[in-house]
Amino acid sequence: MNQDAVIALFRESGALLEGHFKLSSGLHSGGYLQCALVLQHPKHAEALGRALGELLKPLGATVVLSPALGGLIIGHEVGRALGVRAIFAERQEKTLTLRRGFTLAPSDRVVVIEDVVTTGGSTRETMVVAEQSGAKVVAAGSVIDRSGGNATLGVPFHSLVTLSLPTYQPDECPMCKAGTAVTKPGSRT
Ligand SMILES: [Zn+2]
Repeated sequence: MNQDAVIALFRESGALLEGHFKLSSGLHSGGYLQCALVLQHPKHAEALGRALGELLKPLGATVVLSPALGGLIIGHEVGRALGVRAIFAERQEKTLTLRRGFTLAPSDRVVVIEDVVTTGGSTRETMVVAEQSGAKVVAAGSVIDRSGGNATLGVPFHSLVTLSLPTYQPDECPMCKAGTAVTKPGSRT
């Protein structure tokens, strides 16, 4: 599945919108990305997981670890593609932790999987969870890389699509200056 096919799938699912948006952060953007809208279709989630799994297969992972909630579905599908366990870390009093009896052994080779990597912050945090249990993080992966290839993780990082969606302060927004109407993603028109 090449970059164009993935983007087409996102557009078709309404997971990638182009226009003039006011994001929940208050910033404006010409694009809006909501991975959950593509991953809500199990067959799309499976196909994306398989594509990501292909890229990661040579690393010999024994387990997929994802941060809840965003990484859960795609992590599960990458686990399916690689034929390994897919577990997740979740927040307990602000700290990402393994719960529910999930464990990692020092012999485990972990790939950290997310839906979107923006700054790499949550990926790094998830890597720490694996390292604290003595396991080795061999790679990270995401469906979409919004970092513009700038996420420095210290391990190989694979994504299906590199996407740049610039955001603007409202008073500096070129689309506002051009006089186009701003919409809130998710609101019906
Ligand atoms: Zn604007």
